Amino acid sequence: MPYCRSCQTRVTTLEIEYVNDIGYCRHCAEDERKYVTRFRKSVTPIIMVTTPNVAGREITEPLGIVSSQVAFGMNVFRDIFAGVRDIVGGRSDAQQKVFADSRKAAFDELMIEAGRLGADAIVGVDLDFTELSGGGKGGMVLVVATGTAVKLVAVPEAAE
Ligand SMILES: [Zn+2]
Repeated sequence: MPYCRSCQTRVTTLEIEYVNDIGYCRHCAEDERKYVTRFRKSVTPIIMVTTPNVAGREITEPLGIVSSQVAFGMNVFRDIFAGVRDIVGGRSDAQQKVFADSRKAAFDELMIEAGRLGADAIVGVDLDFTELSGGGKGGMVLVVATGTAVKLVAVPEAAE
């Protein structure tokens, strides 16, 4: 059975609502939509790159390191494996989806964080998956995204 990414409540496939491809319960979906709408209105898109620079732009001001953490319970993984294996045809598909969701959530939060600082871009973006101790049943997977928020200007054309 699917679960709400925000409050981790189980929801049926009929009840689940998707916001940016991430499934939520009805209540959290509503909160998320409001949040996303407000965020989109207030912030211009932020460039995210793994490299230390952005091609064609110059960094004028480093604003600081930004990071975001998204924790997923291992039971969520197990539930998903057990629930959808027959439908989607394999563990790896379900696992891919969970990792994709968690990666997206971590990057979204990183962008929001950089947006708060007034950044134009995040450079040197890195993503880590860490399994927190908890010995099997209570274990969590922590997804950590980090990067450096920066201000950019277009590089002037080189004089001939
Ligand atoms: Zn929820």
